[in-house]
Amino acid sequence: MTNDLNTQLKATTENWAKDLAKGLTSVNQLAQQQIINTQQTADLNKIKSHLDIRIPNAFINEIKNNNEVLAKQFVPSAKELIFLPEELEDPIGDEIWSPVEGITHRYPDRVLLKPTYMCAAYCRFCFRRYKVSHSEYNLKEESYQKAVEYIKSNNKISEVILTGGDPLTLTDKVLNKILLDLREIEHVKILRFHTRVPSLLPLRITPQLIKILKETNKSIWVVTHINHADEFKPETKKALALFIDNGIPVLLQSVLLKGVNSTSADLINLLKLAVENRVKPYYLHYPDLAKGTKHFRIPLAEAISLVKSLRGKISGLCIPHFILDIPGGKGKIEINPHSAKQVSVGLWQFESPLDGSIVQIKYE
Ligand SMILES: *Cc1c(COP(=O)(O)O)cnc(C)c1O
Ligand code: SF4
Repeated sequence: MTNDLNTQLKATTENWAKDLAKGLTSVNQLAQQQIINTQQTADLNKIKSHLDIRIPNAFINEIKNNNEVLAKQFVPSAKELIFLPEELEDPIGDEIWSPVEGITHRYPDRVLLKPTYMCAAYCRFCFRRYKVSHSEYNLKEESYQKAVEYIKSNNKISEVILTGGDPLTLTDKVLNKILLDLREIEHVKILRFHTRVPSLLPLRITPQLIKILKETNKSIWVVTHINHADEFKPETKKALALFIDNGIPVLLQSVLLKGVNSTSADLINLLKLAVENRVKPYYLHYPDLAKGTKHFRIPLAEAISLVKSLRGKISGLCIPHFILDIPGGKGKIEINPHSAKQVSVGLWQFESPLDGSIVQIKYE
């Protein structure tokens, strides 16, 4: 695969831009395609969600054929207008930790760099929905320079996480410029891309893109966001393999979503399929308290037992960390559903994942 990169290059230029343009972006288009009925059309015409509509071309046919796990993720609903008091515009405190525009710096050794708030499609549960899809928040040249300057002047930063929005919706030219700028910064060793493009716009993963990524002298990691086995289409598998065959490791992050992947069977299918495709499950997120996303959350207690039920059933390779981002910018924590309990000094209690039996062992 690596050897014939140059041959592949010729075949693939810019098909992805055409595919992106075929996405559905308005209530009218959804009505025309009979994805929403008259009542939904009327409801959605009355309200204006904070997040734009974009349904990826890759999923239009399945959504028309009533694929509910894809529809729920991308078709807007009037439920997005129900706000709970505990829901926040900026649930994980991106802004509290933003020293300059486009950067979130919450942990000493790594920053988020958000050059764009555009995505290949818009997920209705998006935790960054107050900025995502609004082009006025995209980093302008001057702010971008300041963001790069910030990274340059802080030598504790060893990892830059490109996110947004989706950094892989940027053109090769723009991406290449960013990568060249970061390449100059010696203390930055790792570049991580958070992207949903392998699922939503797999044609975007071209040999040209791989070439640009490989030209940096940094360690490159891709964390892809996929929530359901139905998103692993042949094109997606191919896109993931293009990274991996070229030495770029790919991890999976998913959001635990009611009606999408909130059953044991759905989660197991997703996680096993990821590992079969050499993608290591990294994080499973409990949905953040973003405004208008109540209909995507199952109770936390239920989520914990669901995650608990995975251990012992499927390979350890398949098991992600279950993550909750404490509202208000207090940071990510792992919720371990199997946590050890100390019942008295030096006496520890565990629950077997195999038969649920309680075992007490002395560990001095
Ligand atoms: C999620 C996040 C990271 C990355 O966290 P990891 O645990 O390293 O994956 C970094 N910075 C911010 C602000 C984040 O929200
Ligand atoms: S791809 Fe990520 S950033 Fe974009 S809408 Fe979906 S969840 Fe939000």
